[in-house]
Amino acid sequence: GAERTKNVLILMSDTGGGHRASAEAIRDAFQIEFGDEYRVFIKDVWKEYTGWPLNDMEGQYKFMVKHVQLWNLTFHSTSPRWIHSAYLAAIAAYYARDVEAGLMEVKPDIIISVHPLMQHIPLWVLKWQGLQKKVIFTTVITDLTTCHPTWFHPWVNRCYCPSQEVAKKAQQEGLSEEQIKVCGLPIRPSFARAVLVKDELRAEFEMDPNLPAVLLMGGGEGFGPVKKTAKALGESLYDKEAQKPIGQIAIICGRNKNLASTLEAIEWKVPVTIRGFEKQMAKWMGACDCIITKAGPGTISEALIRGLPIILNDYIPGQEKGNVPYVVENGAGVFTRSSKETAKIVAEWFSTKQDELKKMSESALKLAQPEAVFDIVRDLHELAGKREPSNFPYELTASFSSLI
Ligand code: UDP
Repeated sequence: GAERTKNVLILMSDTGGGHRASAEAIRDAFQIEFGDEYRVFIKDVWKEYTGWPLNDMEGQYKFMVKHVQLWNLTFHSTSPRWIHSAYLAAIAAYYARDVEAGLMEVKPDIIISVHPLMQHIPLWVLKWQGLQKKVIFTTVITDLTTCHPTWFHPWVNRCYCPSQEVAKKAQQEGLSEEQIKVCGLPIRPSFARAVLVKDELRAEFEMDPNLPAVLLMGGGEGFGPVKKTAKALGESLYDKEAQKPIGQIAIICGRNKNLASTLEAIEWKVPVTIRGFEKQMAKWMGACDCIITKAGPGTISEALIRGLPIILNDYIPGQEKGNVPYVVENGAGVFTRSSKETAKIVAEWFSTKQDELKKMSESALKLAQPEAVFDIVRDLHELAGKREPSNFPYELTASFSSLI
């Protein structure tokens, strides 16, 4: 008979933009590869089913990242396993019933966590419910290099690592070779599969058709020295002698509304396009020739696929630190915190050093892993095929509440 549609539950949180982008990438790849065989639900379980502190991760993350030292301290002080395990176990016990209700609503055959804090609690709930044999639990790590140990949990069926560096860390944290798979970071299929024509994109976005373009952004939240850099570019991309621009700037401010309105108020000597949160990042990258960004793993991987040389101008301490050498040592970009330096590099790339821009673009394409997300869903499909769903849809056994 016809195969039953399988349910996939992706656990994420809207901290930054990367987790959601990865979740959507996996959903879209399931749709492309397997159509109606899978139904994919993306849930911010914490926000929907739990109380503080779990339901306000977004707020806490934004607060901490803005106060960089606080984040640095949090990242490193929670690294030893005994600290975060105890903390998360306590929270698990407290919120287990709510999380359980959230999980059961979807009745997942496969759970995929794309968040460093979404392993422990759901895995405990599955164990308490005796569902470990029925539900496949996997982690897709969305940090490229340096990542927090809460990503790794010994009970997962698979841990998809974006790089060898992360895989090594998984091993050190006690995961077996069977559990670890290196695939690359899942990027939305629109980056890999769409055929994009630069001229058409520029017309669509009302950009200058001829001037080379630099894309300036700061992750989903519009973090980092975006304004300062934009101003410096406004100077360096204007040829004073010839009295004309040698390039143009596209600025994506993400959810940072203040930034967008501040930039709108400036008078520019070169063509500047300012946008808020954009749904079609693949197209924006396709319209430009290089990118300036903080070292977000999502943005970096996307830019590599589009062959954009990258200037990294900032990173979040902890999980983004290792992304800098990843880009620079592979010849796909440069790192500088100075806005002046950034502006100078772009001006050179657009005039005297066009060959350097081209070479870096080639290195970027070499490093890119556009097929990663498809490798991941194909492996998940294989895992699901091996598991015999005997008595689905499963019923709740003794409610967790009776256990405590
Ligand atoms: N992004 C987007 N629209 C925007 C700004 C960002 O879709 O206006 C996406 C971007 O393409 C990337 C993600 O948000 O996929 C940002 O992830 P990254 O890992 O670079 O940084 P984070 O914001 O998670 O710190």
